[in-house]
Amino acid sequence: MAASGDGEASPGRYDVIVVGAGIMGSCAAYAAASRAGARVLVLERFGLLHDLGSSHGESRGIRNTYAQARYLPMVRLAWRLWEDAHADAAAGGGGGRVLVPTPHVDLGPRGDPALLAAARNGGATVVDEGAGAAAAAWPGAGVFRMPEGWVAAVSELGGVIRANKAVEMFQALAVKKGAVVRERTEVVDIRKQGEIIVVKTSSGEEFHGAKCIVTVGAWTSKLVKSVTGTDLPVQPLHTLLCYWKAKPGRERELAAEAGFPTFGSYGDPIVYGTPSLEYPGLIKIAMHGGSPCDPDGRRGSSSAAAADGDDDAALVEPVARWIDAVLPDHVETAGGPVRRVACMYSMTPDEDFVIDFLGGEFGKDVVVGAGFSGHGFKMAPAVGRILAEMAIDGEARTAAEAGVDLAYFRIGRFVDNPKGNLKDSGDQA
Ligand SMILES: Cc1cc2nc3c(=O)[nH]c(=O)nc-3n(C[C@H](O)[C@H](O)[C@H](O)COP(=O)(O)OP(=O)(O)OC[C@H]3O[C@@H](n4cnc5c(N)ncnc54)[C@H](O)[C@@H]3O)c2cc1C
Repeated sequence: MAASGDGEASPGRYDVIVVGAGIMGSCAAYAAASRAGARVLVLERFGLLHDLGSSHGESRGIRNTYAQARYLPMVRLAWRLWEDAHADAAAGGGGGRVLVPTPHVDLGPRGDPALLAAARNGGATVVDEGAGAAAAAWPGAGVFRMPEGWVAAVSELGGVIRANKAVEMFQALAVKKGAVVRERTEVVDIRKQGEIIVVKTSSGEEFHGAKCIVTVGAWTSKLVKSVTGTDLPVQPLHTLLCYWKAKPGRERELAAEAGFPTFGSYGDPIVYGTPSLEYPGLIKIAMHGGSPCDPDGRRGSSSAAAADGDDDAALVEPVARWIDAVLPDHVETAGGPVRRVACMYSMTPDEDFVIDFLGGEFGKDVVVGAGFSGHGFKMAPAVGRILAEMAIDGEARTAAEAGVDLAYFRIGRFVDNPKGNLKDSGDQA
């Protein structure tokens, strides 16, 4: 189900121009193109499915256990829309499912407020090994070695999303609905000319749209600054997806087919992982966070990334120590991860998303979706739908119906408080 990467983008007027074809732009394009008669154009600066942004790689996790209750309605909406997209793709004879359901387990110190809030909000069952529940058949029992004083919060609602395939699926669905997708087209300016939004590219081409959706990931601050002069606090971070080798004979126990869960570990460091699925015998275990970077000044992608000096050591060594403490019998740390994939987070100070109208002279004609802070992929179909409705209708009816409170995601929250929304406890990917 490949999208047409060389869409015949005519200079005529579009209803919606989407800038950036990562998972958010691809989902927004699908949602916008699904509206009867809408002419949608997607502009992507690199080749489609490139690995220089935030949406590439084999997998992302989905879970309901969020410490911040504000995300629950959006995750629930996203689950439904992932299924709708599967059905739409299947109806068109497209590829298989991109979301593989698994159990989900959160681990951490017994009194950790974020862990307890996540368990409560996500309806997870807290299993306390110290209280003699070790015999309980929770996914991961006998594999995770729980440090003294730790508990596990177990939920049925987890899953692995095949990331590259998901981006491809939404692009293909958008194209099927009539969207034109143009790769290798960098947007350098967005202007308002009368009632029209003029989107200008680095080659001097201009595209005209009634509305525009900006989903440029780690490049958001740069583009917004050059378009409006305002500073949007979306900090790009360099981070790593790490794959580790299962110890001999342990491969099956770590596999998704055997019921091994997606997992998150609270405390310091915050660690997350998915069961062995995409590479047989390897398991993805990585650390939430990263180091500030310039999205244009990186060495580029690194499916084969060799160590990037201190930055990468700081992203690998704490994970190795965590594995040695929590999964010592099952995962090999000697020699480090056997595969590293460089990626970028777009971090806001409060780790909440930015979903808002750009405002100013653009009023409600330009919408921005950014700052997904390492936990946005799972919610992309919901975010895409919301962005498309905001652009086309001036408001997101689906969000309101699903109980998603968009007030938390406004740009204006940073005006009086540079740290943004107040929090009781942290969250994670
Ligand atoms: C290591 C890692 C692990 C993660 N794990 C999880 C997880 O388990 N669960 C979860 O829910 N989320 C997770 N996330 C977060 C999730 O992957 C991101 O929130 C999501 O991919 C962000 O997508 P995006 O479309 O905003 O950004 P991107 O994918 O970066 O897309 C932006 C696109 O805009 C393009 N662009 C930029 N500037 C321009 C321009 N001027 N003109 C045209 N195009 C432009 C870029 O080339 C890019 O293709 C993780 C992220 C990382 C990095």
